[in-house]
Amino acid sequence: MNVEYVLKKSSLSGEDLIFLLGLQGEEKKKLFQHAQQVKADFVGRKVYFRGLIEYSNICSKNCYYCGIRASNKRYSRYRMTVPEVLEAVDFAFRNNYASIVIQAGERSGETHIGKIESILKKIQQKTNGKIHVTLSLGEQTEDTYRRWFEAGAHRYLLRIEVSNPALYLRLHPANRHHDYMKRLEALKLLKKTGYQVGTGVMIGLPFQTLSDLADDLLFFREMDIDMAGMGPYIEHQDTPLYIHKDTLLPLKERFDLSLKMVALLRILMKDINIAATTAMQTIDPQGREKALMVGANVIMPNLTPVKYREDYLLYENKPCLDEEAAECQSCLEARISIAGDEIGYGEWGDSLHFRKRGESNIEH
Ligand code: SAM
Ligand code: SF4
Repeated sequence: MNVEYVLKKSSLSGEDLIFLLGLQGEEKKKLFQHAQQVKADFVGRKVYFRGLIEYSNICSKNCYYCGIRASNKRYSRYRMTVPEVLEAVDFAFRNNYASIVIQAGERSGETHIGKIESILKKIQQKTNGKIHVTLSLGEQTEDTYRRWFEAGAHRYLLRIEVSNPALYLRLHPANRHHDYMKRLEALKLLKKTGYQVGTGVMIGLPFQTLSDLADDLLFFREMDIDMAGMGPYIEHQDTPLYIHKDTLLPLKERFDLSLKMVALLRILMKDINIAATTAMQTIDPQGREKALMVGANVIMPNLTPVKYREDYLLYENKPCLDEEAAECQSCLEARISIAGDEIGYGEWGDSLHFRKRGESNIEH
């Protein structure tokens, strides 16, 4: 196969994607250049900030890869207070971020659901509805998704983690709380409720093949998602998956594969929002900027109070553990201009794909 020929195709097949995921050297550069051009043509060279608030590390689940899984007793469990959340929102607002993400372990129960609902309402009041909120709080019922939507959340991130159900089963306990079909259904419920829906996968997991990754990309297209957040899997010694650490690709290769996934998704879904994730920065200090240069257009500066960061370690060597939000911002600004992009301060940066989806719904 010839890389230029494949990149000119109007629709990429699974076989094409496997070929492109395997590119190296000059051919890989061609892929990255093509993706950068697609980004410039379809979403422009703007980067949108989403202030990340890691609201709580309390989780009822036990995903085999995650450092804050319920059975890991190493971390003290925390939940940010409402004033702490509002202070982080205020930082985002004052710095013209226009958008925040509230992320946490998965919990159900009325206290949790009600607390999130009340935080969302307070954010709306405090910012006059000017801050857009993305939630990343796991699988919930349709009723809960609707309550949070009505309280002011606009977007929701729920990674499918891997789109292959058999692989999903190897990465999660086999019980009804970790059910692939339930997660898939949750994604559909989110769309039905009216959210801009984001999903994503981890890259470089044990047992994962290039064919799985190609299928993940096709899955995103089939689900017609509005946003994506993908990043390398990074092992954590307090998790069951750690026993497979010797079978993993070296970190640099996992990073490289993640860049290719970002580039290919940009080519495949030209007008969606794609995040340059923290896990990319964990492997390479310039990882997020590199992701911006091959197609990503969203960055999530961490606004979590520093005192909680040591307890939100999903994986090892997570960066910026002691960096306050303001320091984080100035270092990011410099890095983004090096990458040749401009920051869309004060802009919601809604997924263009979502907007078009809305327009076509109105037309029909
Ligand atoms: N609990 C919610 C959920 O699982 O959807 C949201 C928070 S969860 C910590 C956010 C994401 O962290 C997960 O979707 C997963 O992809 C990622 N993650 C967890 N452990 C990881 C690891 N060891 N390496 C890379 N990413 C990881
Ligand atoms: Fe909990 Fe999410 Fe981690 Fe799974 S990935 S253990 S649901 S925080």
